[in-house]
Amino acid sequence: MLGNELVRVDAAGLDLAGGFAHARRVGGAGLRALTYGQRAERLGAIAKVLQANRDTYYEISTANSGTTKADSGVDIDGAIYTLGVFAKLGATLPDAPFLPSFLLDGDATALAKGGAFASQHVQVPTRGLALFINAFNFPSWGLWEKAAPALLAGVPVVVKPATATAWLTQRMVRDVVEAGVLPEGALNIVCGSSAGLLDALQPFDVLSFTGSAHTAALLRRHPAVAERSVRVNIEADSVNSALLMLGATPGSPAFELLVKEVAREMTQKSGQKCTAIRRVFVPESLYDAAAEAIGARLAKTTVGNPRNEAVRMGALVSREQLRSVQDGLAQLQGEAQLLFDGRGAAFIDADPAVAACHAPVLLGRRDADSAELLHCTEVFGPVATLMAYRDLAQAEALVERGEGSLACSLYGEDGTEAAAALAGTALNLAASHGRVHVITPDVAALHSGHGNVMPQSLHGGPGRAGGGEELGGLRALNFYHRRAAVQASASVLTRLTPVA
Ligand code: NAP
Repeated sequence: MLGNELVRVDAAGLDLAGGFAHARRVGGAGLRALTYGQRAERLGAIAKVLQANRDTYYEISTANSGTTKADSGVDIDGAIYTLGVFAKLGATLPDAPFLPSFLLDGDATALAKGGAFASQHVQVPTRGLALFINAFNFPSWGLWEKAAPALLAGVPVVVKPATATAWLTQRMVRDVVEAGVLPEGALNIVCGSSAGLLDALQPFDVLSFTGSAHTAALLRRHPAVAERSVRVNIEADSVNSALLMLGATPGSPAFELLVKEVAREMTQKSGQKCTAIRRVFVPESLYDAAAEAIGARLAKTTVGNPRNEAVRMGALVSREQLRSVQDGLAQLQGEAQLLFDGRGAAFIDADPAVAACHAPVLLGRRDADSAELLHCTEVFGPVATLMAYRDLAQAEALVERGEGSLACSLYGEDGTEAAAALAGTALNLAASHGRVHVITPDVAALHSGHGNVMPQSLHGGPGRAGGGEELGGLRALNFYHRRAAVQASASVLTRLTPVA
């Protein structure tokens, strides 16, 4: 933001193989010696440590990520909230104190007459470690949304944050390790180069990656994944959509809800959210009105130094990201016209020659069918494109041209007929999205936001979004457990009974 050096990051000379072995052997054993309930308590204790150091994290976030206080909160408080939710969910899990941690998976199925010999599926924590390779835009939430279910499952964690924003992740890990709330070796961090990380993975380890589709493709080809069957989860880029249903009119409640949400999604964290709305589809008769209304909202977005109270939108994470947004925008402009361009306004308290600020820009194109890049190019900044549609079938087909996205939001009016149309479209789009967020006037003040990832709901998406699944409440534990069938006599299987 100010162009000054903050910290130095270097992973040179680390004994990765030795460190990983320590995490598996010491950290894994220490975590598995606890019950699910005890591990859930540790998550609550982590949340308290983070809460106690919150002010420092906000300072680091402003200095390093260039985010306003509200945008830092999405990352920092979002993490604390997620830990709290998993602490509560974990407290409901049954434990069998005299057996290793396990979860029952369905009922026993008879394999012999009368059930004297039967098959019971169980889920047991994997005996490896969980390596997280994370993106730069969520140095806090990106760690804890993964670590909460991993630690609850009893699996030790190694996190490798993106170098550009590793500082906040490192500080949090240091604080939690120093507070002694976790067993030794349960939480580990590597800052700096990723070289050698995947080579150090072994068959029972799991890898959870968040970042670009390009890096994801490299990881999928690595021998750890391709030959040693390391289980991998990928959260990649996504060209998410918002869709205003038929029946809305200029200024109607659903219309206003879409306008407000699009402007918010474009500007929150300067558009650097993997779930942010990139494409906006409205009925063709509402194209002009929507362009005007979204533009009017964006015009109120003051851009500049996040330390200045008058600023609503801070900087992008780096000058490199600024160039990437400028390049991506120039590409999209080849297929779209400018509907709103905030780049004429001066930045507040920020030197354009040094800062990584970028004003919001709304692009538009009426003929969405013939566009190519608009449907497949993720510009990771405050940029979105408005497009028109004729009927719902065409609108759904256009949304699907994102080839698999994290989130899609639908905006409709209240009423039985509208609800039926929304439910049908939600199910149609569920096949190509990890989450469909349906907004109607009756939930205007209640809904959790298009781009906010709630720990209770699934996060991930098929196709270009990476094909991954995270969160979704206790479903998140599946990734860190191995499913196995135990075939045995009824008397052995009755011993597999966890108690609440
Ligand atoms: P990136 O360049 O792919 O980097 C992601 C992480 O991978 C960083 O920690 C990076 O380390 C590391 N990395 C780079 N090359 C690697 C390699 N050869 N082997 C192992 N690790 C490697 O992505 P980014 O620019 O940080 O993040 C932006 C992208 O992430 C956007 O496309 C966004 O949509 C996506 N994203 C997705 C989600 C989601 O949940 N789906 C969430 C947030 C962001 P270094 O920093 O040290 O290079």
